[in-house]
Amino acid sequence: MKDYLVIGAGIAGLSLALGLANRGRQVIVCERSPSIEPVGAGLTLSASARAGLAHLGLGDDIDRLAEPPDPAVVLDWNTGKPLTTRATAKHLWETRRMSRADLQSLLLARLEATGLAELRLGKALAGIEIGAEGAVARFEDGSAIAAAMLFGADGARSSVRASLFGDGSPAFSGRVAWRFVLDHGEAAPLMQGFGATITSGPDDSLTAYTMSQGTQVNCVAITRSHEWAAEGWSERGDPAELAANFAGSHADARAMIAQAAKRPLYRWGLFDRPVAPLWAKGRAVLIGDSAHPVVPFLAFGAGLAIEDAVVLDRALAAHDDPDTAIRAYQAVRIPRARQIQEASRAQALAFDRAGQWDEKAPPPFLDPAIHEYDPVTIPFATDTHAR
Ligand SMILES: Cc1cc2nc3c(=O)[nH]c(=O)nc-3n(C[C@H](O)[C@H](O)[C@H](O)COP(=O)(O)OP(=O)(O)OC[C@H]3O[C@@H](n4cnc5c(N)ncnc54)[C@H](O)[C@@H]3O)c2cc1C
Repeated sequence: MKDYLVIGAGIAGLSLALGLANRGRQVIVCERSPSIEPVGAGLTLSASARAGLAHLGLGDDIDRLAEPPDPAVVLDWNTGKPLTTRATAKHLWETRRMSRADLQSLLLARLEATGLAELRLGKALAGIEIGAEGAVARFEDGSAIAAAMLFGADGARSSVRASLFGDGSPAFSGRVAWRFVLDHGEAAPLMQGFGATITSGPDDSLTAYTMSQGTQVNCVAITRSHEWAAEGWSERGDPAELAANFAGSHADARAMIAQAAKRPLYRWGLFDRPVAPLWAKGRAVLIGDSAHPVVPFLAFGAGLAIEDAVVLDRALAAHDDPDTAIRAYQAVRIPRARQIQEASRAQALAFDRAGQWDEKAPPPFLDPAIHEYDPVTIPFATDTHAR
């Protein structure tokens, strides 16, 4: 029997595996994809995620590879006139932006360097059996692995969650995200000299921000849709359909959207589901999006996943009894995930009235309670002196 088995080599699974290996534990990570491809664009790393990654030994790498933010100025939908100034909240300046592929590669390289982890690619989990001594993972290729502890880090459509709790799948939120990347030279004249802008209308929005050391601008449009849009990160979108949604917007926004026709344009549906009421059955434990997918308006999905990984790793180090560790992990993390999920939904609604944001009616992303969280020091109820 293996000691630790992680299902899913995304940000949650790799962060947890690195934490375990850093403490000298042998760990197996099974990933459905046959290879780790550099898919996905920018992730936002909250201050809490940065603290967590530094705890895992990646602080210097993050300082080198991640970029500081340029908080966005909201532009009027019709005229393009700036409606807000750049937010000066301290915690926003402490966030960083990083390519998901870079973060995943960094975690993988560090994990391999420990010599204690084994990554098995092309291993898609089919189901789990829980026993008194741990769990048995059964894979679609017919193989099985028995482990003393199993961690379900297999994302929003988690097979581990389905196998443990059978509580349905995520529901379409009625919103679709579109993404395209422009060269900075072509986008900058459409951004009035700001590093990041949000054009927010009653139904649709366009966020543009500078990335890749100032050489590119990432453009993300959110539109409403009654249609069920596919989930995933690589479906191509129709530029004419996107342009139709922005027909009434200001000239710079329309010009930016028009550029999407010349670039790869991706679209994906935004899905939501409640935070799982329980994150463990026996010695099988959920972590990351499998336990709590969030709509991306607060840009906190990766941050939550890293917080989970660090707290779970600390709980396992602090408690000799795995069941006590699992209880301590859930007690600390479930309220936090609910807080961020609710704030993410509230931020989605706040986007629709972005032009009215001010100090008296701040949007949820400026709430200090969201940002003042440290996964490295937060105490456990049963052990306030956790390592
Ligand atoms: C390909 C991809 C691209 C993304 N791009 C972005 C982006 O550009 N911007 C952004 O904000 N967020 C992006 N995300 C989401 C973001 O990474 C997550 O919301 C967040 O980091 C939480 O990570 P997670 O590890 O919990 O889940 P995920 O990042 O979804 O990782 C889950 C992993 O589990 C694997 N898996 C799923 N099912 C099985 C199974 N049955 N057996 C074995 N393995 C399985 C998946 O292949 C994946 O590698 C992306 C996710 C993926 C998978």
